[in-house]
Amino acid sequence: MKSYFNTNVEDSLKDFNVTKDGLTSQQVTESLTKHGLNALNEKKKQTVIQVFLSQFKDLLVFILIIAGIISMMSHNVESTLVIFAVIILNAILGTVQHFKAEQSLDSLKALSSPSAKVIRDGAKIEIDSKNVVPGDILILEAGDLVAADGRIIENYSLQVNESSLTGESLSVDKTTEMIDKEEVALGDQKNMVFSGSLVTYGRALVLVTSTGMKTEIGKIATLMEETQEKKTPLQVSLDDFSKKLAFIILAICVVVFGLSLYRKMDVLDSLMFAVALAVAAIPEALSSIVTIVLALGTQKMAKENAIIKKLKAVEGLGSVSIICSDKTGTLTQNKMTVKKVYVDGKLIDGESLSLDDNVQAYLLKNSILCNDSTSQDGKEIGDPTEVALVNLGHKLSIDELRLRGDISRLAEIPFDSDRKLMSTLHNIDNKNIMFTKGALDVMLDRVKYIMTSEGIKEISYEDKQNIIITNKELSENGLRVLAFGYKELSEVRDLTLNDENNFTFIGLISMIDPPREESKQAVADCIRAGIKPIMITGDHKITASAIAKEIGILRDGDRAIEGLEIDKMNDEELKNNIEHISVYARVSPEHKIRIVKAWQEKGEIVAMTGDGVNDAPALKQADIGIAMGITGTEVSKDAASMILTDDNFATIVKSVANGRNVYNNIKNSIKFLLSGNTAGIIAVLYSSIMALPMIFAPVHLLFMNLLTDSLPAIAIGMEKANKGLLNEKPRGRSESILTKDFLLGVGLEGLLIGVVTLVAFYMGGAKGTTPLTASTMAFATLCLARLFHGFNCRGKNSIFRLGVFGNRYAWGAFGIGLILLNSVLFVPFLQNLFQVESLSLNQYGLIYLLAVIPTIIIQTVKVVKENIADRKENVTIIEKEEKLENIA
Ligand code: ATP
Repeated sequence: MKSYFNTNVEDSLKDFNVTKDGLTSQQVTESLTKHGLNALNEKKKQTVIQVFLSQFKDLLVFILIIAGIISMMSHNVESTLVIFAVIILNAILGTVQHFKAEQSLDSLKALSSPSAKVIRDGAKIEIDSKNVVPGDILILEAGDLVAADGRIIENYSLQVNESSLTGESLSVDKTTEMIDKEEVALGDQKNMVFSGSLVTYGRALVLVTSTGMKTEIGKIATLMEETQEKKTPLQVSLDDFSKKLAFIILAICVVVFGLSLYRKMDVLDSLMFAVALAVAAIPEALSSIVTIVLALGTQKMAKENAIIKKLKAVEGLGSVSIICSDKTGTLTQNKMTVKKVYVDGKLIDGESLSLDDNVQAYLLKNSILCNDSTSQDGKEIGDPTEVALVNLGHKLSIDELRLRGDISRLAEIPFDSDRKLMSTLHNIDNKNIMFTKGALDVMLDRVKYIMTSEGIKEISYEDKQNIIITNKELSENGLRVLAFGYKELSEVRDLTLNDENNFTFIGLISMIDPPREESKQAVADCIRAGIKPIMITGDHKITASAIAKEIGILRDGDRAIEGLEIDKMNDEELKNNIEHISVYARVSPEHKIRIVKAWQEKGEIVAMTGDGVNDAPALKQADIGIAMGITGTEVSKDAASMILTDDNFATIVKSVANGRNVYNNIKNSIKFLLSGNTAGIIAVLYSSIMALPMIFAPVHLLFMNLLTDSLPAIAIGMEKANKGLLNEKPRGRSESILTKDFLLGVGLEGLLIGVVTLVAFYMGGAKGTTPLTASTMAFATLCLARLFHGFNCRGKNSIFRLGVFGNRYAWGAFGIGLILLNSVLFVPFLQNLFQVESLSLNQYGLIYLLAVIPTIIIQTVKVVKENIADRKENVTIIEKEEKLENIA
């Protein structure tokens, strides 16, 4: 393949038959057909058969197969058939579930797939990175991920981090210069960029020379790691729990088997008893319920503008206790409008600027020429700060494109949020003028002269004081203030950072960026939920504080500090002071990491937003890294675990509520499954110890565990968030679901259901001559009681508080369960298969009566607890009121 580092720009373009206006649509189609999509080959996904077979690796399936074999040996044809049918059905369900989960993760991935900016048919457009083709003209800017390999054809101080390819961690400077050699190491190909690198600084136009597997990274990448989701911490801990439980259960099974043999029971019957116990007890669905509920949760969140990139984040969101948020665009609208302007010693309205005034005209020229944004036909493209300046120009009849056409840009140093300045070089009236705009505090120390209507003067102490005071007054009103200056250069040349000094000050332009309407409420919700909201911004401290106060982040006793003050503190000091700081101004990305770490050391769980190229490390360090979907760079999106498609702070708070809800729902589903299993174990163990006949045939337990239990568990997982969700404090970092209280609850509820099941067994004649009737009644009662129990597990509160019809899925699951059970009880063919006997009307009524008892007891306890809690709350309110009265 031809190399392009030793080909000049013109020849390279010729090779691809393209100009800087980009490919035509026709050429793109041809290139796409010839070269295919710009993607690396992924390892082949598992086939349906492979997934299906992998379902048989399960312990439960192994036990079921034993059950099937025993049934076969005891010549019980129906039972054998049912068991094997269930094993296969279970595997089919598992396979379907696997592909469903994969599908939902794939669709989430597609939502967050990287994009690239290209010029095609003369226009700049943004496309999915995988549609980039050789010959495309790629636009690279700080924060972009390089989408393909290419030759640089225009370069504005481009710096690229190529560590993924070369291992070199420092960014390298790029150039357009041809390299006149046959062979050059990748790291030295300074006029090329490579797929997978990060643009850390500057801008460039690049001719794409190869895509997909033909890129350098494609050549070295053996097949990509399968992009399968890792298990979340919750799943890992549940898997661990299930495994331990399975061993304990197996040990008990062995004891039960021994006991039966000792009692001289038939060997096969004894084995069946032990197997029945294992089937009743092994909680096979725990991990898969977590996956289903998490996946459903992510779909809901995606609809509410939060794209989750890692399932782990849903779990983490529920325990977030600190949210560090950018100001501009996240808490505010990012719709800037110019307000007051300070020029020539006067503060005037932006709209009253005049081109006839020499100084004002220079200020306007600076604001539009030292500016990359446009606003044409109502379409605003670029940084809102700059768009505000362009819009001001429009009001004064200046068209930015025409002005930029008349006075072209000869060199530039792009804006970056560390330096907080931007400079461009132009030829104006035969002078080489470097225009600079940026933060006043960065610029003022470097100002030597001031432009006035009486000419250029050396800047005096008084002039500086006036500027500082004006800046303070504007900032106190929440306005963002930009300073403008210029400097004359002797020649046209590339600009360097050393040029940015000895400025002539022209003026200040202030602009308003109002808070988002929903920010205030979202901040209040956060505080109520025990989460501390913190503002981190590159803006001025006074501006930031004014906005933070308005939306409730900066409250009495809270402090606002600047990045410089963080520099003066060591990590220990920062940690000790951090609790009272709620606004960080003029920060750079390195400060963000220190802030996250300090909070984490205090044991807090931190969510942090970021949009810039240098935010990636802080986003990775945070427990939940949140990138901005609209204004965020590709690099930040890549590093984040969640992307906000509306860049809105309120969406973060909504996601935290969703995260808490998902966690609670998972907990409740698990409670439902475990308590149902416990009831089964108690019934089987009791009957074994008391030497009663076999209470359940394994098919009974299979029927419950695999058919009637799964739907209510999923329905519980879909319970809506209740209003009180944000009234509770966040849960701790290491708080596990399986606490003592939780397990005690599971035990007690299981006991209740187990007892009514045994009562049904006795009443059905366990000790008499009708063991089959007795076992039918026990089975039906247990099954029904578990279906009723689904309503108890919907939440901590009583069903009356939760709303009897608040979860239609719960009713659906109950209804289907009821139909399934009644089919087994009444359809003769199924009666045979599931080893049940017809019941009399009285017996049938008795089942319902017994089955509903645990639910009545559990709901009564909940209602009583609620009343006690309400009374306590009333007492505290009255006490507080009395105290207030006394004070008054
Ligand atoms: P955040 O998004 O973190 O809340 P921000 O967007 O206000 O903060 P930056 O974009 O890093 O932060 O801006 C920091 C400062 O740099 C601003 O206060 C302003 O003074 C200056 N600035 C911002 N945009 C530009 C620009 N396009 N050109 C020159 N200076 C700018």
